[in-house]
Amino acid sequence: MADTTSVKQIYELRTEIERLQSQKDTLLKELDQTEENLETSQKLYQRYLPLIIDLLTEGRSGFPPVLNELSAAFKKGSSTAKIEYLFFKFHENMLKEERAAAKTGGPSLLAKLFSGSGKRLLEELKQGYLEIINTLKSTLEDRHMETLSALSKRVVKARDPKALGNVRDDLFGLLQNHIAGLGEDRDKIAQFVQEILKRILGMEEIIGQSFSYADGVMETGEGFDSLLTGEIGRLRTDLDVAKTLDELKAQVSGTLLTIEEALKKKVAKERMIKEVAEKNRYAFQTGFARFKKELDQATQHSRELEKKLNQDPLTGAFNRRAYNKRIEDEMDRYIRYGAIFSLLVIDADNFKDVNDTYGHAIGDKCLQEIIKRTSSHLRKSDMLARYGGEEFTVVMPETDGQAARNVAEKIRQTIAKIEFIYKKDAVKLTVSIGATQVKEGDAGPQDVFDRADVAVYKAKEGGRNRVVLN
Ligand code: GH3
Ligand code: MG
Ligand code: MG
Repeated sequence: MADTTSVKQIYELRTEIERLQSQKDTLLKELDQTEENLETSQKLYQRYLPLIIDLLTEGRSGFPPVLNELSAAFKKGSSTAKIEYLFFKFHENMLKEERAAAKTGGPSLLAKLFSGSGKRLLEELKQGYLEIINTLKSTLEDRHMETLSALSKRVVKARDPKALGNVRDDLFGLLQNHIAGLGEDRDKIAQFVQEILKRILGMEEIIGQSFSYADGVMETGEGFDSLLTGEIGRLRTDLDVAKTLDELKAQVSGTLLTIEEALKKKVAKERMIKEVAEKNRYAFQTGFARFKKELDQATQHSRELEKKLNQDPLTGAFNRRAYNKRIEDEMDRYIRYGAIFSLLVIDADNFKDVNDTYGHAIGDKCLQEIIKRTSSHLRKSDMLARYGGEEFTVVMPETDGQAARNVAEKIRQTIAKIEFIYKKDAVKLTVSIGATQVKEGDAGPQDVFDRADVAVYKAKEGGRNRVVLN
């Protein structure tokens, strides 16, 4: 009776394990698919951005050389770090030009791009954008379709470069969203895998219990007990009805024989059941161990992916993606609960000179050193990230502008003291830091960032190696 119950239980558990195993396999496949999607998105950038750049700069001069470097890097399929770095260089160039244009009232970089054969270029560019949007339509999930269709319409209607520029920004926003969404999928998958692991541990416990239950029942030997009770009962009746001692002797020895045989059978059966149970238990345990190991590996794998997704490979600090996520969270907390936070933007001074004088490798070492020295001044709750190139951000929860400025000042002083000895020279390094606190009226993280960025700009104008609170 006990045996059939545990056999049934074991059978059910085995089915359940098989089901979970296939669920785990599906999840791992999904994880791979997610990774593939991420790559596809990156390839999209690689395929179309150089086309646009070439189209714009074809046969014309006066553009920052970094634009061509960027195009070449895309085509070559350079590392993301390199592309990110060039992109920021280009972005900075554009910002500088746009700031200058705003001051002098001259043409901005975007306006310059279209100064030549404006109309034809605009049409060609529109075609390019439409092609990109169509490709995205066949690549991205359905939830993006409406936005993509709206963007197509805006491209068709665009009359000037500015309108197209807005479309471009929204398109990049959408891609960024898509990529961030992939990260969320990973989170979910990792969570699933964890959940499965927990359930398996739960099942292991049940199996352990069912075995010890079966053992217990075997020991009490219910069947044997009832036989023994029956035989003794019969012996008692025989005693009452036995006529002679011989008759009684014969009856008693007959009964004892039956009991003895039953006892032997019981021992043999018990031994057999125990052997089978042991075998089963062993098979289960090793099966489980293997299964658990696979799941542990899958969990570890998805944790590593997650880490890679948020980490800057050069410095080991958080990357821009992680920064974006964190500052969104801080902004939400501010809007919901009024929890303030501050932001530092740290930009290395004249870093181009460091590279030009000592080489890129020393430049890289300096960036790593900046991260190391900055970290030592931060609290556990602060978040230091490499925003791009030689630019870093620090998100500081529960910190007002004054306090943030004080920390920034300490960071600035510490970095100014670094001296690498390169050959016989001492490499000097300084940073300019913009600090700002979140304020009422900030619509989103970008407002906070822009204010800190303006502060950096002021610090540079004021002679560098200084902190400005804005
Ligand atoms: P400023 O004081 O105005 O910030 O001057 P800057 O030279 O630092 O500014 P600019 O933006 O002109 O140049 C940034 C330089 O940072 C250009 C590039 O040589 C360097 N850089 C960016 N990323 C990396 C990197 O990953 N490694 C190294 N070695 N250098 C980098
Ligand atoms: Mg910079
Ligand atoms: Mg700099």
